[in-house]
Amino acid sequence: MIPSIFAYFAPTSVAEAIGLLTQYGDEAKVLAGGHSLLPAMKLRLAAPGVLIDINKIAELRGVVINGQINIGALTTWHTIEHHVGLKGVCGVLPEAVAQIGDIQVRNRGTLGGALAHADPSADATAVVLALDAQIRTHGPNGERTIAASDFFTDMLSTALEPSELITAVICHKLGAGEGAAYVKFPHPASRYAIVGAAAYVKLSDGKISTCRVAVTGAGPVPTRQGDTEQAMLGSDGSAEAVAKAAKVSGATMDILGDIHASEDYRRAMVKVYTKRALTTAIARARG
Ligand SMILES: Cc1cc2nc3c(=O)[nH]c(=O)nc-3n(C[C@H](O)[C@H](O)[C@H](O)COP(=O)(O)OP(=O)(O)OC[C@H]3O[C@@H](n4cnc5c(N)ncnc54)[C@H](O)[C@@H]3O)c2cc1C
Repeated sequence: MIPSIFAYFAPTSVAEAIGLLTQYGDEAKVLAGGHSLLPAMKLRLAAPGVLIDINKIAELRGVVINGQINIGALTTWHTIEHHVGLKGVCGVLPEAVAQIGDIQVRNRGTLGGALAHADPSADATAVVLALDAQIRTHGPNGERTIAASDFFTDMLSTALEPSELITAVICHKLGAGEGAAYVKFPHPASRYAIVGAAAYVKLSDGKISTCRVAVTGAGPVPTRQGDTEQAMLGSDGSAEAVAKAAKVSGATMDILGDIHASEDYRRAMVKVYTKRALTTAIARARG
């Protein structure tokens, strides 16, 4: 349980951090909350020669709400959970992060760290997919914005380049006729999602005009449920329409079984949690 030897840097600006990441390349790892990286290092599953601790980079921290919502990569779950402004414009974010781990985990864990780590059972991954969020990054070649739908590429893998830093996550503010929800079946010890579902809907003239559903915990990557989304479009959002759409949730995604839940059980729970998330999102959209 002792990590191998590493050099430690604590840059105070994004530019300095990118410089270090470029200089040390594959040898270097970014340290944010450390709640995934440090256990991996202690178990010697990861042995970076250089740690670049980004915690002193103030510009990466905090939530700014103007025309849209900008959440700095270093913003902790605790800050998101208790942010007064967020509840009114994107309540699904505080709702989801309040379900993460325990208070120590929420005090340290960060949004950027969770997205970069891309744990298959993480909660925020499904939420950013359902919200169609944009992930802002900064690397040696400058800044870019990656759609959440293009970000998660495989188990624990993302579209981030090796020397790139996530700097922020951008979401739109939900207004009248829009609703979103996140529900999960948590692992009883860690609280990671055995299955979690996030849903976003928009109602126009009483019909569902936009629907996004994303599932986490069930497979190797958080996955949008295209068949369910299609089934909801144009419907009145009735209980019957939701039940029908939820039935096809998970049908075409890879679902994993492990010691915590079998593949069949997870497949069944994907439908149950999709139905719950959609039902709540629609109720919220109706106001
Ligand atoms: C006991 C326990 C229970 C947990 N329960 C849950 C749960 O219920 N639900 C849930 O979703 N999560 C859970 N987590 C995960 C936790 O909430 C954090 O989200 C997670 O550990 C990653 O965030 P971090 O800030 O700690 O990242 P770190 O551990 O510091 O980093 C993780 C990875 O991301 C990279 N990284 C970090 N920040 C950036 C950045 N800005 N740009 C590029 N790369 C970056 C690091 O190099 C590393 O590879 C749990 C963790 C623990 C220890």
